[in-house]
Amino acid sequence: MTDPNPDHRPAVRAVPHPDELDARGIPITCAHCHAHRDWLLLNVLHQVFVRCRCAHEWEEPDLTRAYFDLHFTEPEHEWENYDDAMTALGFDGLLAGTTWT
Ligand SMILES: [Zn+2]
Repeated sequence: MTDPNPDHRPAVRAVPHPDELDARGIPITCAHCHAHRDWLLLNVLHQVFVRCRCAHEWEEPDLTRAYFDLHFTEPEHEWENYDDAMTALGFDGLLAGTTWT
């Protein structure tokens, strides 16, 4: 048997969330650009992060792994390289300030 992940890098599960997100009953707002929608939710191990189009990213303790699994059972992709994932999804900051309504 060969280890399919010999480097033991944690997989990144990423799911776009174009709408507002209010895990606490209060819509999450980006502290950097004040966006209030169009997120990328990231799950790495037991942590869940929220990433904005402006590439600002933070750990959101109100979004648990269980929450992620409950709402996002079908992640679109998995990447082992974080930067590749961000670029592929358009969350590397190039689209900062853009919103689609
Ligand atoms: Zn932002």
